[in-house]
Amino acid sequence: MKSNWKSVLWILFLCFSLCSCDTLHIITPSNDDVDIQEFSYRENDDMWLQTQSSYAKASKLVGYGDYLYYKDSKSFVKYNVKTGIKTYICGDPVCSHTAKDCPLYGYTDFGAVPLFYENKLYYFVDYDEGIYVNGIFDHVEYVNNFSCYDILNQKHHVILDDFFVNFVEYIISGNCFYYYHPYQDDEGNYIYYLNSINLTNSVITEKLLLADLDGKQPNNIVAASNDQIYFASYMYGELYSYNISDFSTKTLLYEAPDGYNIAHIGCQDESFYFVIQNSDCSDQKLCYYNLNTNETTILYSFTSPLSHVYYTQSYAYFTYNEKKTIGTTSDTQETINLPASKIYRVSLSDTIPSEEFVFEFTDNMSMFSINSFVVSGNYIYAYYISWVPSGDELTSSDGYNSIDDRIIMRIDVETGEIYYIK
Ligand SMILES: [Zn+2]
Repeated sequence: MKSNWKSVLWILFLCFSLCSCDTLHIITPSNDDVDIQEFSYRENDDMWLQTQSSYAKASKLVGYGDYLYYKDSKSFVKYNVKTGIKTYICGDPVCSHTAKDCPLYGYTDFGAVPLFYENKLYYFVDYDEGIYVNGIFDHVEYVNNFSCYDILNQKHHVILDDFFVNFVEYIISGNCFYYYHPYQDDEGNYIYYLNSINLTNSVITEKLLLADLDGKQPNNIVAASNDQIYFASYMYGELYSYNISDFSTKTLLYEAPDGYNIAHIGCQDESFYFVIQNSDCSDQKLCYYNLNTNETTILYSFTSPLSHVYYTQSYAYFTYNEKKTIGTTSDTQETINLPASKIYRVSLSDTIPSEEFVFEFTDNMSMFSINSFVVSGNYIYAYYISWVPSGDELTSSDGYNSIDDRIIMRIDVETGEIYYIK
């Protein structure tokens, strides 16, 4: 698979050289060897929102301050978007985090998505370590804990040992980590409660709040401030909050019109951005909710069903749920429909914003598609899918290797220039 992907890159490289196309750049930085000539960065005040909601974590590309965090095929990457310097969080680019002295000991890709909060990485260890005695397998040790790695000071500590919960939603507010935890009632049904862990003394406070179940999953935790936690019931189109010191009173902040639910929530300081939509998504509107005034403003009506939305401080970037047919696979003869990946944006500050076309793959890259993306300043950072012609057909799986190998594509919003961060 690995060599396949390399050959694909090589073919692409050849294609681009032959077309004397000058928009392909490959950034291959490492700790001590940055190819400055390849790297360029233009300052822009716009930044990604510092949000920790499940919506933000879902892309597995986390933007925080000057850094983009993601997993590549080997380890956990901290990429400085301004300098192009890519470092590995535990310091070793090929580390599998299975040695006890590794600061990310026990970190695997299988657990819940880690959380970045004030330059600390909070993560959940669920790791089975084979113990060998004199070179012969003896037993398995299960390592389950909730860990914190202070990225600036390079210090690791375990917040709670033997900590394993099947939680689906979690957030940090001030000095507490809040998460849903399932408890079994007398009839054996699972009920979700909100618990907290004090990050200083590791004390757990249980059953702060019974989840409002709109089906099987608890409602989404979308934001937290020093004294409030904000939730969204996507299905019922509700945005509400609880005061952290008193979980007895639910404050309903916003309720969508009848027949509408909410989706794609982003939060910024004293405001929320979200989309209200009817059941078949034939009507979708971008809304702004101001926490100070409790007022909701409709900013924009989308023209067709949405796929992906990403908020920066100044824009909502989005793709429509279009598909384009590019051919058939060489092995199964199935028709390949790629997400069309035309990226648009609307300004969040204009009173009557209009839709602005941002980017589309064309020509040699017409068989590329964006899988998920985040945006900061002049640049889109994306996981992508690519397909290559093989005779009259398309080679199928290679494109998906771009996800496994975690090569990030950086697209310049203004020029369309593409860089690969390898
Ligand atoms: Zn490591």
